[in-house]
Amino acid sequence: MVIAFLKRLFGGGATDAAGAPPAAAAPAAAAGGPKLRTYKGTELGIHREQISQAAIRTCEILQRAGYKAYVVGGGVRDSLLGLTPKDFDVATDATPEQVQASFRRARIIGRRFKIVHVMFGRETIETSTFRALQNDAETDEHGRVLRDNVFGTQQEDALRRDFTVNALYYDPIADQVQDWLGGVADLKARTLRMIGDPATRYREDPVRMLRTVRFAAKLDFHVDPATLAPIAELAELLENVPSARLFDEMLKLLESGHALACVRRLRAEGLHHGVLPLLDVIVEQPHGERFIEVALANTDARVRAGKSVSPGFLFATLLWQRVADRWQARQAAGEHSIPALMEAMDSVLDEQASKLAIQRRYIADMRDIWGLQPRLEKGGRGAARAMEHLRFRAGYDFLLLRVEAGELPAELGDWWTGYVEGDAGTREQLLDARPGDARPPGTKRRRRRRSGARKGAGEPGSEAGSEGGAERDGSDDPALGREPDDDPRWREVPAQGGGSPRDRDPPA
Ligand code: ATP
Ligand code: MG
Repeated sequence: MVIAFLKRLFGGGATDAAGAPPAAAAPAAAAGGPKLRTYKGTELGIHREQISQAAIRTCEILQRAGYKAYVVGGGVRDSLLGLTPKDFDVATDATPEQVQASFRRARIIGRRFKIVHVMFGRETIETSTFRALQNDAETDEHGRVLRDNVFGTQQEDALRRDFTVNALYYDPIADQVQDWLGGVADLKARTLRMIGDPATRYREDPVRMLRTVRFAAKLDFHVDPATLAPIAELAELLENVPSARLFDEMLKLLESGHALACVRRLRAEGLHHGVLPLLDVIVEQPHGERFIEVALANTDARVRAGKSVSPGFLFATLLWQRVADRWQARQAAGEHSIPALMEAMDSVLDEQASKLAIQRRYIADMRDIWGLQPRLEKGGRGAARAMEHLRFRAGYDFLLLRVEAGELPAELGDWWTGYVEGDAGTREQLLDARPGDARPPGTKRRRRRRSGARKGAGEPGSEAGSEGGAERDGSDDPALGREPDDDPRWREVPAQGGGSPRDRDPPA
């Protein structure tokens, strides 16, 4: 055990299953292993009031029961940077069963690696037992760790985390920050540094490459050159990551409030090439750039204003250009508008399904949002009916984005806004001003034969989901976003059937 630990710290000439050197704590390891430095929290600018009461209570109760307990991860990092943390996690030397026994409302989740959700009112604190990253952990042929489920010491727990700035332990009772790996210095220098040998750590868990990009963009940190260097070469390893997990990490990136910066960075790091069809679409599409930029800027603004965003809406925007191109191509080949749109939607969703497991309910939202577009483009007498659609608000928000991107004329957006906000009299006037069969100017790109076209794309009848682009559907699961692939939440899910013709909304 001791030998294994030392080997892990110093490399020891051992190799993992992929033939790569084992992770070590560099540069701390080079200096003789991680050394604990402690700081007074208040002196670093962290104050108890910045930390969630529930996280503090969790630490207090565990400490009173005789265990170690610290706030860790993004909660500490963001508080130290003066940012508002998204959530708070606690790390402890108590086993999951001991944690559960210490609280009235706590439940163990996960099978192989258990963590505990401790609940205070509406807040949930994810509480994990210190964990070690084993050198002899089971990996796939590329070095990806398949099981990561061995409890360890606090020091080992620090070593298995991703970045030095994410491995700070804050004790809110003692007002102390514990730093094993130079995270405080990196935080001050605004440097994102992978713990251990970066290439090995990316092999163990390729998702860390996406995390590098996300944190660099979100925190506006400089990425340590050694942390950055292996990414271009290893990017393709993302292909081996279970798609459900990839989806979740992508969503985190897109909902970070810095989606546009992240996407630009992904391009800069070469992380968009053939790895995820979605990323290819986002960063490489020739005509869609403006639309995507507008959509991402809009999403970032919402997130930063503390508003929620709906994943279905988000993914509908990201994939729109591809849908629109295929829709147009099919119409050019003589297909009717609505069936052409349906086919375009199917083919784009099919393409995504195997890579990025977009959840079924989000697919339903996306179909509705896209399917509403021809009706909204038309406006006029069909407006009242369109407004009855469950997802009208999202479809309308989507139309406004298209207007903002210059894809549709401004008057169309204004017309709809007037209609949506107007009283009955105003609506009548607007209908008079815009007969039902009028086509908005500038939509010749969408010119198509209408005779016999089936109507009703995106009719109600899909699963319930979030209402409108404005609202997320409350699925914020604080448990999401964790690392172990053996975690049941990351089990490979079957490819979504969202794109199959039988899932299609029947024509009304
Ligand atoms: P945020 O919640 O703001 O996105 P975070 O740093 O809290 O950022 P989480 O995904 O909530 O990120 O993870 C909490 C902590 O768990 C991280 O700070 C890090 O220490 C550790 N962690 C998460 N994912 C990984 C990973 N893939 N590899 C190693 N450690 C990880
Ligand atoms: Mg977090």
